[in-house]
Amino acid sequence: MGGLHQGHASLIRSAAAGCSEIGSVLVSVYVNPLQFGEGEDFGCYPRSFEADCLVAQQAGASAIWSPDDRQIYPEGFGSGWRLRTPTALQSGLCGPRRPDHFDGVCTVVSRLLALVQPRQIWLGEKDWQQLTILRRMVADLGLSVRVKGCATVRESDGLAASSRNAYLAPSERRRAASIGTALRAAATELGAGVRGQSEVLMSLSQELESAGLEVEYVEVVDPFTLQSAVPEQSLRLLATAVHCGSTRLIDHIFVMTRSPIVAIDGPAGAGKSTVTRAFAERMGLLYLDTGAMYRAVTLWVQEHGADPANAEAVERLLEGLEVDLSPLRNGVQTVCVNGRDVTDAIRDPRVTGSVSTVAAHACVRALLTRQQQRLGETGGLVAEGRDIGTAVFPEAELKVFLTATPEERARRRARDLQERGHSVPALSELEAQIVERDRLDSTRTIAPLVQAEDATELVTDGMGIEAVIDALEDLFRARVAEEVWPTPEC
Ligand code: C5P
Repeated sequence: MGGLHQGHASLIRSAAAGCSEIGSVLVSVYVNPLQFGEGEDFGCYPRSFEADCLVAQQAGASAIWSPDDRQIYPEGFGSGWRLRTPTALQSGLCGPRRPDHFDGVCTVVSRLLALVQPRQIWLGEKDWQQLTILRRMVADLGLSVRVKGCATVRESDGLAASSRNAYLAPSERRRAASIGTALRAAATELGAGVRGQSEVLMSLSQELESAGLEVEYVEVVDPFTLQSAVPEQSLRLLATAVHCGSTRLIDHIFVMTRSPIVAIDGPAGAGKSTVTRAFAERMGLLYLDTGAMYRAVTLWVQEHGADPANAEAVERLLEGLEVDLSPLRNGVQTVCVNGRDVTDAIRDPRVTGSVSTVAAHACVRALLTRQQQRLGETGGLVAEGRDIGTAVFPEAELKVFLTATPEERARRRARDLQERGHSVPALSELEAQIVERDRLDSTRTIAPLVQAEDATELVTDGMGIEAVIDALEDLFRARVAEEVWPTPEC
């Protein structure tokens, strides 16, 4: 909406850095009447087009576009189409206090997207509820644009950068600076978990009021659903809106008690390993290939001449067995069994043929699940397998069920075997093996392959590897902000 500041400049810089090879950055400046309520600041909202042009240009924008009302709302904004935001997304935070606000935001942004047809739209995490609603709009309506968020930029006194900061008189500005301090203190308390959530919120409210701010709300919500968060959640959003004099300000902080965990489950040959590895590198997460662990146990059983179907024989062999996974290096995760590198050996079709049988034994599952949970204690990892979201890390921030049709998976398996220098069976044979492995994995009694209730299904037929990784990144970012888990610089 213009009134460009350092927060906008950071969006423009990130967009320019992210798209230097594929396109250019357009900055839109339009004070959207539809998103202002009665008695709000539409009339006096900062309009500083000359200054905006300078900020945009210096930050690396290719062009700035300031449409007039007729371009955005040809039928007039009283009588044209309007989008309705789902109730659940606006039942908390700013929703109840600004009825129709998010409908106005969604309507103008969808119009903007239709007119510009960008590949990406960059928005600030500062307005987390708005960002979440727009992400959901894009996902639910299947709009072909990626929504990218940027961490909140703060001024030197800790106040979140906002066009509305321009309204503040010096004495108000000093009062407003206490929002950030109070939020940080409350977040530390919430993270420690000594006092209850509602008690901490009450203290925070009092703290803000005694700093001379009028509190509209303080709430703790789940960053993705925007519904009330429970204290057990490892990632929560603590958000507030206050009035400082006649200026309404919003701010938030994330409360993260352990680093994020991503669970990627799905059937054999859906391309999980390739995309999960790349996704882990892109997001700076550790990669845990649990299938490799089951394969390592299978190889060990075979090398000892035991029958993979004989649970007792397998159990005896587990004593003194150490399976180690090294951190990912150059896209490869080394797998060791009692110190011996078996990274290639576990991909042998003989191992593939027996792994589902071995993996179905309770003793094997108990051992490896324990090990995996130990590796994930502090979080900061993405694990792929069959039961990650259901049995290993049911509290993962993001759960994805990655799948593809058996025909597609057989084709991918053939390509993979060829690249690894193994002989390639006929496609029909590969497909039959894949279907059989799926059957064994999903019908076993313990930790069967099933889609977790709260997992997002991603069917990857016809998608290139990059597109799948992008989709994972978008799902991740809708739940885990840049602010708490920044994307590593490449
Ligand atoms: O993913 P990959 O094909 O390497 O997995 C090999 C096998 O290991 C699967 O077919 C399944 O039987 C088993 N597995 C499992 N639970 C996991 C990961 C793999 O049962 N979490």
